[in-house]
Amino acid sequence: MVKCLIDYRTAYRKVWRRKRAANQAMRRRSAGRRLKACPEFKLCTSGWEKTICKRLTDNGIAHRHQVRYPVVLGNGKSITYTADIVVGDVIIEPHFFIDEAFISKMGAFRAQYPEKRVILVTLNDFIPDVPRSIYNESVPIEYDVFVLSAVEKLGGSGR
Ligand SMILES: [Zn+2]
Repeated sequence: MVKCLIDYRTAYRKVWRRKRAANQAMRRRSAGRRLKACPEFKLCTSGWEKTICKRLTDNGIAHRHQVRYPVVLGNGKSITYTADIVVGDVIIEPHFFIDEAFISKMGAFRAQYPEKRVILVTLNDFIPDVPRSIYNESVPIEYDVFVLSAVEKLGGSGR
């Protein structure tokens, strides 16, 4: 009888052990470079905000949460816009319900804080319906890793 089945667990055990040792060594080397945790993680008000926070923290990008800006709306009403995540002059706004109130608030904020740059993070399918004027860059939450290149593009300094 010809034995034609390979037991992959046996055949690849050596390869697997070598890969595991290499991974462990890499993790030990990079351990000191990673930020341990975001000091303001507890301020996160949504799951999406936590997702972005972890993404920034894992990549060593310092940021702040729930930063408040006074804004005057088009109808003359004064409100406070609370930005979810701020990286230098870049605002990261993970937002699910894009309604008229949100659009007018963001429009007024951008007009009154022209030096700020806004990254809108929402569902990929929602992005085409959001007025282009209220954000500089958009990132689908499904591909939240792109928030890193968006921050880099807009010059977020990580202050
Ligand atoms: Zn954070």
